[in-house]
Amino acid sequence: MKFGGTSVGTADAMRQVVEIVKNEKQTWKNVVVVTSALSGVTDLLLKMASSASNNLPLFIEDSAVTIHKRHQEIADVLVQDPEKNKKAMTEVDEILTQIVNLSKAIAVLGEATPRVMDTIASAGERMCIQLLSAAIGSAGVSAEPVEATRLILTDDHYMDAHPDIAASKKMTKSVLDPILERGCVPVITGFLAATDKGNITTLGRGGSDYSAALIGAALPADEVWIYTDVDGVMTADPRLVPEATTVPVCSYREVAELAYYGAKVLHPKTIRPVIEAGIGLRVCNTFNPSHPGTRLVAISKARDGIIKAITTVKDLQLITLEGRGMLGVPGVAGRTFDTVAKLGTSVPLITQASSEQSICFAVPAESVQRVIKELSSAFAHEIENRDIDRVWATEEIGIITVVGEGMKSTPGIAGRICTALGDQNVNIVAIAQGSSEVSVSVVVMAAELKKALQVLHKLIQHSEPVQ
Ligand code: ADP
Ligand code: ASP
Ligand code: MG
Repeated sequence: MKFGGTSVGTADAMRQVVEIVKNEKQTWKNVVVVTSALSGVTDLLLKMASSASNNLPLFIEDSAVTIHKRHQEIADVLVQDPEKNKKAMTEVDEILTQIVNLSKAIAVLGEATPRVMDTIASAGERMCIQLLSAAIGSAGVSAEPVEATRLILTDDHYMDAHPDIAASKKMTKSVLDPILERGCVPVITGFLAATDKGNITTLGRGGSDYSAALIGAALPADEVWIYTDVDGVMTADPRLVPEATTVPVCSYREVAELAYYGAKVLHPKTIRPVIEAGIGLRVCNTFNPSHPGTRLVAISKARDGIIKAITTVKDLQLITLEGRGMLGVPGVAGRTFDTVAKLGTSVPLITQASSEQSICFAVPAESVQRVIKELSSAFAHEIENRDIDRVWATEEIGIITVVGEGMKSTPGIAGRICTALGDQNVNIVAIAQGSSEVSVSVVVMAAELKKALQVLHKLIQHSEPVQ
């Protein structure tokens, strides 16, 4: 069972978690818990590190006090035995002291390496396991904190490290099996891992879901349950579309597409380890545990035409490379994306007109200037020869992605999407169909994104009920 930041963010929330673990422990012989940091703590830690490089010592001290208080408040409610309370908080404070010292070192150096950033970013989970395991213990269930540095081995690609699956499986089993044999619940840090030299790495923001999948696959678990703050995977982000409803069954391909196109509910890398291990995956709500949430399955019985869910990505711009001479220039697409990749910029959507006179792709708005500059120099020769006329960016745009396995067998879905948007005067800037045919993505101007989302969400409400 993996619990997200909001699920452990307050005493009330963590009490819910303890209750869920206690209940499930009565049904299942072995229960393994993976947790995120308390909500907002990872962000605050990263701010501490960046404010350190800007030499803001007061902010570091204040943040440490805030983080200490957040943990202490929960400990005082859920760990009432004074000795156990003190023990858990001593561990928390030790980690916090390391982070304050590291931040001060950054202030002296004036910059932070990715390796140091990962040590700082991962501290939230390390503090949380001390508190959560003490809280579970106080409720009468024996629990033990485990840092995932002992379980998951990765390369040294800090801030987005790649696990060595085979080695991690061995490590995970050798550490967790004896704990489980003792009838104890391991309470494990999500998000973090370690290199073969023992340096802390992280699996990317939101990576605790992925940790749970890796650990679940290694054991192997019967099922992996991702507990969050909404009733499973929903037809749209409920923060943006209040009418959104739960999708009861979702295929791995559908959820992978949703996750890739911005639905934060599940980290996109979570799917693969569980598919490969043939394990069940469920997304459910800590605050509404009797709700069945969403069951993820290998193949969903898709009904023709059905749209399952809609997701949006914002803060993007489209870059276009165009010129009548492009037809004759070899490898334009390859060189373009090679250049963009070298900047470490992700490209969520690409369209190319069949005339080959332009290539158009989306990039995060913050990287637009850098990308244009690099492309202009990579194609300087072609630009000088007028084979490429210009490289330019649109204003801010957003991508809306409509997802559903049933779409691939149904002609006219793209037509329905365009008609629905056209009827409401939403202009479509570009359209792309994923090669998996599980999704169709539409680009609209940022100002029209919200309206477009609501218009398309009505297509779900007016289609047959989701299965
Ligand atoms: P956690 O901390 O539990 O990992 P996250 O904040 O990472 O939680 O993810 C849960 C949030 O994802 C929800 O609160 C919701 O606002 C957002 N979300 C975005 N799209 C969807 C969707 N299609 N279904 C459910 N939640 C979504
Ligand atoms: N705490 C980490 C983050 O905020 C990991 C996670 O929550 O999954 O990114
Ligand atoms: Mg998350």
